[in-house]
This record gives sequence, C-alpha cells and structure tokens, in this order.
Amino acid sequence: INEVEHLSCDVLVIGAGGAGLRAAVEARLAGKSVIVISKSLFGKAHTVMAEGGAAAAMGNVNANDNWQVHFRDTMRGGKFLNNYRMAELHAQEAPDRIWELETYGALFDRTADGRISQRNFGGHEYPRLAHVGDRTGLELIRTLQQKLVSLQQDDEAAGESRDRLQVIDETTITELFTAGGAVKGAFGYRRGTGRFMAIAAPAIVLATGGIGRSFKVTSNSWEYTGDGHALALRAGAKLINMEFIQFHPTGMVWPPSVRGILVTESVRGDGGVLKNSDGERFMFGYIPEVFKAQYADNPDEADRWYTDPDHNRRPPELLPRDEVARAINAEVKAGRGTEHGGVYLDIASRRSAEYIRERLPSMHHQFKELADVDITAAPMEVGPTCHYIMGGIEVDADTTASAVAGLFAAGEVSGGMHGSNRLGGNSLSDLLVFGKRAGEYAAAHASAAESPKLSEAEIAAAVEDALRPFGNDGENPYALQDAMQQINGRLVGIIRRAGELEEALTELAALEERIANVTAIGGRAYNPGWHLALDLRNMYVCSVATAMAALERDESRGGHTREDAPGMDPQWRKVNLVASLEDGAVRLERKAVPAMTPELLGLFEQTELSKYMTPEEYQSSPTEEE
Ligand code: FAD
Repeated sequence: INEVEHLSCDVLVIGAGGAGLRAAVEARLAGKSVIVISKSLFGKAHTVMAEGGAAAAMGNVNANDNWQVHFRDTMRGGKFLNNYRMAELHAQEAPDRIWELETYGALFDRTADGRISQRNFGGHEYPRLAHVGDRTGLELIRTLQQKLVSLQQDDEAAGESRDRLQVIDETTITELFTAGGAVKGAFGYRRGTGRFMAIAAPAIVLATGGIGRSFKVTSNSWEYTGDGHALALRAGAKLINMEFIQFHPTGMVWPPSVRGILVTESVRGDGGVLKNSDGERFMFGYIPEVFKAQYADNPDEADRWYTDPDHNRRPPELLPRDEVARAINAEVKAGRGTEHGGVYLDIASRRSAEYIRERLPSMHHQFKELADVDITAAPMEVGPTCHYIMGGIEVDADTTASAVAGLFAAGEVSGGMHGSNRLGGNSLSDLLVFGKRAGEYAAAHASAAESPKLSEAEIAAAVEDALRPFGNDGENPYALQDAMQQINGRLVGIIRRAGELEEALTELAALEERIANVTAIGGRAYNPGWHLALDLRNMYVCSVATAMAALERDESRGGHTREDAPGMDPQWRKVNLVASLEDGAVRLERKAVPAMTPELLGLFEQTELSKYMTPEEYQSSPTEEE
C-alpha cells in the first residue's frame, strides 16, 4: 500500500531535540501552525542524554563571569575559526534562554544562596554550566515538552485545533521538496507502519543533530546518521567545517558492548583526574603553548584551583576536549594504557563517596550497571569516543537561514558556531539560543510566503526512492554500515594522515555503488534494516565531505589533527571549507572566515591573537592603538 498521508503547516520542524522543540515553541508563539517530527520516540534525542549542563555566563558562582569572557572562551576553544557573530549571540543570549526555561518550569540545581548553580567544565574560565545533577538534558527536554503541551492546551482553550501544534514521532524524513531555490515540503515514513507521509510547508527548520553513527566507537545513538546534513545538501544548501569532529576524551572502554558510551566531563570538572598505567597524572605533560598561561603545570596548583580559582591556574584535565583526547591517544600508543586500551579516570581517591553519589548519580549508576565498577571506590577506564560534529549546515548567524529560501537549521546540524572544537556545555546553550532564533525567523518567512503545493509526480518519485531497497539484490545494510564505520574509524579518526585520507576516499567511493544497491528484506512495518538502508546514503555523503575536507586542510586545528601537518597555520584560520553537491558528487570550495569586528578583537590580548592570526589581522584590533 503506497498510500501517502498528506499534511500541511506553516513551519515544519524536523527533529525534536532541544533545538527542534525550542524552535517549535517560538514558531507557535508567533501564531504559526507547526508540525514537529522526530525519528525516535518523542522525548528521546541526544539532548535528553546531555549530562554536564548548559553553559551560560550568569555569573552566579563567580561574579567575574560575563558574556565577553564566555565569548573569549568559545573562540579559544574553537581555535578562532568560529563564526564570531554566532559565538557573540550565543554568549550574550544564553543566560536569558536559561532563565526562560525556569519560567517554563525547569528547576536547576541551586547555590547555597538560592541562585542557579554553575559547574566547571573544560575550557570555561569560570564555573558556567547550569545543571541538574548529571541529568541536565532530561530536565531541558522535559521542560520543553511540557511547554509544547501547554501551548496545545492554550490552543484548545481558545477553541483552536490542537493540530496547530502537532508532534509526530517515530517518523523519518527522507527527502525535502524544493522549487525555484526554495523549500516547499518534506517526505518521510512512519517507522511503525512504513506508511508514507508528505508535508507541505513554506518554512522548514532542520534540527536533526549529528552524524556519530558513521563511527563504530561513538557516544551517539542509532538515529544520528547525518540525515539533516544530507537533506540540506541535496536541497542545495551547503555544509561547512565538516573536517572537525569532536572525539570526546572519555568514553567507556570496557566491556566491549558499552564501548563509546559517554563518561561526562563533569567527573573532571568535579575533581576527577586522568592517570596512566604507571599511576602518573599525565596531563601536565600535554599543555600546548597557547594554553600555558591558563593551565597549572603542577598538581598542587591544579588542586588549589578547585577552591581558589582566582589565584591558581586550572587543572590540565580541563583543557579543551581535543587536547585531552589527543593526550589519551598518545599515552595509550606509548604503551601506558590500561588493559583494555584506555586510561584511568579517578575520582574515587579524590572525593568522598557521598559527594560522588550526589554530584554524579548517573555515572555512578552507569558504571555499576554496565561495567560492575563502583566509581566511589575504583577508577574508571576511559578512552576517546566520537561525540559531536562541529561541521554542519552553513547558516546566517542572526536568522539561521541556509542558502535555500525557507530552510533554516539549528543545533548540532548547523555549522560555524563552535569553529574547530566545541566546548562542553556550549551545545545545550547553542540549541536554546539558535533554536529560538530558527523558530522566530522560520515563522517570519512563513508569514511572507505562499502556501506551497506538492505535485503527485514529486511525491511518487520520493515513494519510488524509499522503496528501492526492496527491489535491489545487493548487500545487507548492516554490513555496509560496518564497512563505512571501519573506514572512518581507521582512516578518518582522531589522528589523520594525507595518504590514509586518500585511501579513505578511495574506499568510500567503492562503497557508493554498493550503497545504491543496498537491499532490504521483509515488509515495511517495523523494519530497521530498511530504515538503515535509507540512512546509509546520508552517512555516506557526510563521510565523503569529512574525508575530503580533512585531506584538503593540511594543518592541525581543534577536532582535526594531521600527523603529517602538525600545528596551526594562521593562513588556514582564515578559511572555511564549504561542501556542496554537484550532480550528486560532493564538491569543496574555500571561503573566507568572516573577520571579527575590532570591538570583539579588542577583548583579547594581542599576544594571544598573535598565536592564531596573521599580523595584518590582529594588528587591526583596537588594543594596538591604545
Ligand atoms: P538532538 O537532541 O540530537 O535531536 C535530534 C532530533 O532529530 C531527534 O529527535 C531525532 O530523532 C531527530 N531526527 C534525526 N534525523 C531525523 C530524520 N531524518 N527525520 C526526523 N527526525 C530526525 N552538550 C552539552 O552542551 N552539555 C552536555 O552535558 C552534553 N552531554 C552530552 C552527552 C551525550 C551522551 C551526548 C551524546 C551528547 C551530549 N552533549 C552535551 C551534546 C548535545 O547533547 C547535543 O549536541 C545536542 O543535544 C544536540 O541537540 P539537537 O537539538 O541539535 O539534536
């Protein structure tokens, strides 16, 4: 039965994580009819898994914090490749977005004097992460869902249909429809029944999260196959910075069934330290030149920082994630790893059992249940895991608009905000700030646009595409996914080399035809093999964009480390690699990173800027004239 369910709305939001829900709230508040679609169950998204917290310079725990300091930290973390305007808006608006969540009913942990508590995290100068134990994402999603329900009830009370704010879960979007350079709708299927759906909408917000499932060892769950990235590319939008993938330094490494599952950075923020198999606290040997002024080079100073941050430098365990992941990788490679190929993360010898259980309840539970380790008594074994992609859809900083009219993007699927490396906690705040903006501008776009019509022919073509795996006589989708994960893990992972990246591109190219011929068996109801078959082409196009950009960028920066081109090159700092699709093939072009305004440049010391920028760039900063 190829019957297609037809729906329409003003603003279609694809993805029901934090970015999607915040966008939906805003678009509905602007009076638009909204449909929110999610691939998994409503409430299950990466956002719900976020543990540590949301970064916002509220200054509750250290009054010296403000948006300028947060902006500086974000740019440093991203090695100055960030879209500065996004980083500026993010730092300025994050506190309001957190406060607003409390007005929606969220309840963050408190300081002794009743303010929202904030915790330390890597790369953040002051305690900045608003949190709820180590289950912050759960509170964020719960609150936004509750807000959606209350908006539906408002509609009902006003005699309007609940259909003005619909949530459709367990539904995957496989195609966007466009006409004349603008979006006009989307096509997908209900996972439970396999039934098709076409939705006409003049404005679409992509909020589909990341690509982590293209790697075998990952903290990401099954639905993160780069769908939004690929949908945007196929619709004519562009992706930037795809070479920058964040390998979180601390994933579980043992037992094999749980390899990759995240161990929150809060363990280090709350006092945990990394040790090698010699018992050495090794991070002191890995502080890069650019960070020497901010990080302690001895354990005594590092430990004093927890109680006296104003007079001591930070522990090197709290360096940005790319630095810590590379250090762990190097220790293991040098033969100082644990039995299972990780390093030790020890909080047991540093904090009381009571403190650990109170601050890190999920971690305590996770290790007990999955690894039979009591983290209040023994160290954890940890190692890098693919966690987040900095690259994503190129958007306008203020409006989140992509290059395709009516197509907006927010959250992890968008690119630019985090430059070459995201700081922990900056994603939850990113998706609140830009989710709101996406909803607002998508609603405005819908107000000015005509209601689009979808043609029978284009829907029929989408149906045919979706059903193709059933007619093929090729390979099993799981075998193909495994092959792609192996290529990415082996050749496009945490440490990269030109020759290996070329090899990756050759091996990926050999997969293209096999993926086009992937086969699904069985019926359409609850058929995960078929679903994966449809996801594979998305993973493929993202993997190719990543490998191409990683080969092109012959320097090392943030989440992109080239063993054959170590060190940052100031000329590369000025360049974004932009991917588009031309006749189905990924094409890369170079584009200038927008130059920071003199006011923002003036927030940094010139000596610091000189480590990243060419003299012409940093000498234009106002501090030079003073
Ligand atoms: P997500 O929350 O990932 O949601 C994406 C949505 O899109 C889902 O509803 C999914 O079903 C849907 N979707 C995907 N494809 C399709 C499709 N084709 N059709 C329809 N729907 C689709 N960040 C922090 O700032 N602080 C933290 O403490 C933190 N901890 C983390 C812990 C873990 C274990 C993980 C994995 C990530 C963590 N992060 C953290 C990162 C952060 O959680 C994510 O980057 C962020 O939640 C992404 O939000 P999002 O709204 O962009 O997308």
